[in-house]
Amino acid sequence: MSFKNLIGQNELRSLLLRALEKNRLSHAVLLSGPSGSGKKAWGRALAMSILCLETSGGEPCMACPSCRSFINGNHTNYFSIAPDGRNIKIEQIRSIRQGFYLQGGKKVCLIDGAETMTAEASSSLLKILEDPPAGVHFVLLAEQLRLLFDTIISRCQRYTLKPLSFSEATGLLLEHKNISAEKAALLARLSGGLPGCAFRLADDGQFEERCEEAKTLAYNLATGCDSARQLLSWALYLSEKKDLVSFLELLCMQYRDGLVQSLGREGATAWFSNAGSAALEDAIMLINKVIYEMNTTNVNRRLLMEKTLILLQRRLSTCRKSSESGLNRPARPTTLNPV
Ligand SMILES: [Zn+2]
Repeated sequence: MSFKNLIGQNELRSLLLRALEKNRLSHAVLLSGPSGSGKKAWGRALAMSILCLETSGGEPCMACPSCRSFINGNHTNYFSIAPDGRNIKIEQIRSIRQGFYLQGGKKVCLIDGAETMTAEASSSLLKILEDPPAGVHFVLLAEQLRLLFDTIISRCQRYTLKPLSFSEATGLLLEHKNISAEKAALLARLSGGLPGCAFRLADDGQFEERCEEAKTLAYNLATGCDSARQLLSWALYLSEKKDLVSFLELLCMQYRDGLVQSLGREGATAWFSNAGSAALEDAIMLINKVIYEMNTTNVNRRLLMEKTLILLQRRLSTCRKSSESGLNRPARPTTLNPV
């Protein structure tokens, strides 16, 4: 994978190519960005370019013996480490360390999930970074910089991956997945411009079904047509979903569409054309808070869903009143309520 095959990240691309071309790349590079932003693809392109014997303008040639070994996955001077379970352990750093001192030109060590290194692993890596073996480059990939040792960060040349633009993400999906332009646009928006996330959604065989469910629930909450008992049944049903976070993102998108429409912008369709934007903003913030809570704590999902749905229905009551008084009362989605 060369840089020219990677989409977007124009600033990162020109910075890396310039550093490679002018031989100004540090022996330790840190690529940070959210999950699904493409860190690994960029890290591998960088590793390939460092190892390439015939680079041109910083780009790997894809044809020299080094590039061919890299593409075949058997380059003896390329080492990669990823978390073993939840962490990268000191044994993993030790196991590759001896390879750095062997003869044979440049070497690259890619550390994926660098922020998961244990304190011992971090200290061991830090010692290597402080006195790096000749010709050895490190490429660290991390989502959460705050979990990395400051002393490690300070020894790295830092680059950040940004989400792709809407048109870049749509183009990427259309190029790699056999889906309609309409679906590509929807997935591009849902993924927030993160290619890994967009591909995951495109490969999800139950995506359409989940979309319809999210629409139904969004409609029910906004119109208040479910009784308290029905909301509790929804909560139980949702709490048993494996992909609850991704479902909540779909639910959130329904209200985001409604908000965009209520603010008079183009490009969105929703049932909330007369909705109060404050109520919709409230709903979006609440769902995002719940997603964060689910991602960071071991919360009781059923209780959390019960509380969330009741709160959402209450907060959206402003939206409901507004919607009922308007002329464009929405049609109810056809999907059956699972309750
Ligand atoms: Zn090459």
